[in-house]
Amino acid sequence: MKSSTLFIRALKDMWQAGKSYYLLLFLQTFCSSSISFLSFIYMSRIVNALSQQATEQIVSLLIQYLSIFAVLQLVSTLLQPQVENFNEITQRRLFEMPYEKMLRMQYHFADNAETIQKLERIKFGNLSRQSSLYLMNVRIPNIMEYVIRTIWGLILLTPLWNVSTTSATGSLAWVNTPWVLLIFVGGILASVFSQFTGSQKAAKYMENIGERVLNVNAKYNYENDILSDIESGKEIRLYQMGEKLNQNQLDMHDSTALLLRDLNKTGVGWHIMTVIIGQLLNYAAYALIGLRVLLGFLPVGQIIQLSSALSQVLANLPMLIQHLAMILSQPDTLVEYYEFMDLPDEQVKGSLPIEKRLDNQYQLEVKNLSFSYPGSNQEVLSDITASFDVGKKYAIVGENGSGKTTFIKLLMRLYDPTSGEITLNKIDSQKYKLTEYFQLFSVVFQDFRLLGLTLGQNIAVSQDYDADLAMTTLDEVGLADFSKTLPKELDTHLGKEFDNRGVQLSGGQAQKVAMSRALYKDAPIMILDEPTAALDPVAEFEIYQKFDEIVTDKTAFYISHRLSSCRFCDEILVFDQGKIIQKGSHQELVKQAGKYYDLWHAQAQYYQ
Ligand code: ADP
Repeated sequence: MKSSTLFIRALKDMWQAGKSYYLLLFLQTFCSSSISFLSFIYMSRIVNALSQQATEQIVSLLIQYLSIFAVLQLVSTLLQPQVENFNEITQRRLFEMPYEKMLRMQYHFADNAETIQKLERIKFGNLSRQSSLYLMNVRIPNIMEYVIRTIWGLILLTPLWNVSTTSATGSLAWVNTPWVLLIFVGGILASVFSQFTGSQKAAKYMENIGERVLNVNAKYNYENDILSDIESGKEIRLYQMGEKLNQNQLDMHDSTALLLRDLNKTGVGWHIMTVIIGQLLNYAAYALIGLRVLLGFLPVGQIIQLSSALSQVLANLPMLIQHLAMILSQPDTLVEYYEFMDLPDEQVKGSLPIEKRLDNQYQLEVKNLSFSYPGSNQEVLSDITASFDVGKKYAIVGENGSGKTTFIKLLMRLYDPTSGEITLNKIDSQKYKLTEYFQLFSVVFQDFRLLGLTLGQNIAVSQDYDADLAMTTLDEVGLADFSKTLPKELDTHLGKEFDNRGVQLSGGQAQKVAMSRALYKDAPIMILDEPTAALDPVAEFEIYQKFDEIVTDKTAFYISHRLSSCRFCDEILVFDQGKIIQKGSHQELVKQAGKYYDLWHAQAQYYQ
């Protein structure tokens, strides 16, 4: 995509993210920037009136000036808080857009090293790359102000062009010719050129070191997150990593400073040139304006308007150029950004609605299912065929890495099979609408996440929740009494990040909250994917069995690498290197020679 197309797309996206902000910002900037120009105009007219001793006109001009001034000042002041508020909202929207995109993406795209790296680069680029949407937005208020001031300045300079050559006489006649003004235009263009060249050089320098700054920043932010994370605090203290991490941070500061050291020197010659041209133009302009007034070509009061307008143009135009040059100098940032934003979204294959059934008659079947993770040739699941009856309890057991979690992820359609199919009520699961399909599953993953929200919100995974239902689920997992001792019961925050009365749960309590969450969702298919891996085998068995008593009539899958935990299940599927190598009840399997028998006896010493 061409850079100009990218910039237009970026501006459109920014406009979409903050229409009200940009409109209010324009109005507010227009009012606040116009105040000084208003005073140039009126002071000039008042001085003219004074020189003609037109007292009435002076009073009328003063009244006009003060009224317009009051209106502009009032509007500008009233809008200021609104603008700041909308700015905050727009900044957040722009910052969040890539994260929203990540959530819209099909899970297998999102869980891909390349995608994750792209998102990380955008995240860090957001704060350091000039043409990221986020930083472009930061520059917009300045750019708007410079544009408005420059345009006002140019408008107020127009009397300079009103030359009547017929009135020019004598040796100073040239003072009143358009040619002399063209020299000024040339001077302004030269100043713009040197400012642009200087800024481009600085921007190019930034582009050259950008990659290295980005990498250092990425590491810096990563370690910063670790340093501020209370969970990591244990390891940091225990392994005495604090000093090393702090030193790393200082070293990274130094290396960024080193990289940026020469930035201020780059293009400095051009910037000095801009200042010199600007000053020369300033002096020459004052001389010209003075001469024209002295010779009677301009009224005396115009000195104020013209000289002030000129100094505004000379101050604001180079700044405008500098900001634009910085933004335009790094189109690579936008290329990267839109490459990410244009990745395919959620799969749109399925459109079939899922029938709502109170009898939970959702029957799953797997036929010749094989799967390799995207970007890998290694088959993690090979030719799996199985059928799951409604209301039965299934165990998926096998050693670590045998493909148990991957199988569950496929069953839930977080990934698509490489070959084979999964059917729901005899229809290919891919034909169903994905969001409705997800509604069929309540899962507690091994690496479940509780959020920095209240206990009730964590259970419902939503801002609003049914307190009675949340309490019932806590009761079912044996956490109701504990939750009643919390300072604000269900409204107590988990973690102390946002509320110093928040509660830090133990590992076991957190697991129970995660199970409450699954029960609250009350989906027809329940899955426990080793959320209890950190517990001892006996405790895991008890939790699995207790959970099973709660979910009575639902289809349930229990995953564990410990055979004892799932021995109560109707059917046990033994996974080994991505294949189902045995099926049957515990009583059946423990009698047969095979993997289950071997593992059972190998593990038995831990719980017999
Ligand atoms: P289990 O649940 O039985 O411990 P998994 O299903 O988690 O096993 O993993 C099976 C295999 O797939 C392992 O070799 C693991 O390294 C690999 N694997 C798991 N997740 C991913 C992933 N996101 N990308 C690539 N390979 C993965």
